[in-house]
Amino acid sequence: MKRSPATLPFQLDSGMRRGASRNGCPAPTNADPADGGIGCRPRFLFMPTRSIVAVMRTIIPEQKNPALREISREIPVSEIQGKHIQSVIADMKKLLAKEDFGVALAANQVGEPIRLFIVSWRALARGSRNAPDEEDVPDDAPALPDQVYINPELLKMSRGKKPKHEGCLSIRGKWGLVPRAEKASVRAYDEHGVRFTRGASGFLAHIFQHELDHLDGILYTDKADEVYDDADEK
Ligand SMILES: [Zn+2]
Repeated sequence: MKRSPATLPFQLDSGMRRGASRNGCPAPTNADPADGGIGCRPRFLFMPTRSIVAVMRTIIPEQKNPALREISREIPVSEIQGKHIQSVIADMKKLLAKEDFGVALAANQVGEPIRLFIVSWRALARGSRNAPDEEDVPDDAPALPDQVYINPELLKMSRGKKPKHEGCLSIRGKWGLVPRAEKASVRAYDEHGVRFTRGASGFLAHIFQHELDHLDGILYTDKADEVYDDADEK
């Protein structure tokens, strides 16, 4: 299991703890083999940086994730294809692929308060009709790529709302009934920085509303008429 940056040992070199001389270098008698023969270079300067790059993000539970309550910030279009945004997208796709019941994920769920969400191919395989939430994706569902929505704007939403059965990967073990509109259309940028507009009805429209709420620091439990534990479902 990879360590998160927060748990990395952030230690001074043993030679430095013993008492540094000028330039922060220990005395030349320091023959600490843990130094790897690199002399007095303080390892703490580069070790954490290298580790942060290698650590995969995780879906952080509500209680430990203040980013869920922030208004996420817009991503400059010029940064969409940059290393940082592309690594967030890659991690989010991997995390979503591991979730049997996950159909979408917003960046702040992995601790990145930026305006970005991903919709899984699983959600798209259900089609745009108003499928019941409990319906399984058929085995012969076509392979579709995940969809990336960057800086999404809600263009239109139908008026009436109906209660929809909803859960969230940040709030495990709970479900709720949330009033959602049946149709919604969104304009956004994809992961290549290309702008697109997409109209949806039914399941995908509900996902749009849940994910757009995430980007504004809102959780479905704020809007639900009823929230219940997984075990209460039957
Ligand atoms: Zn959610």
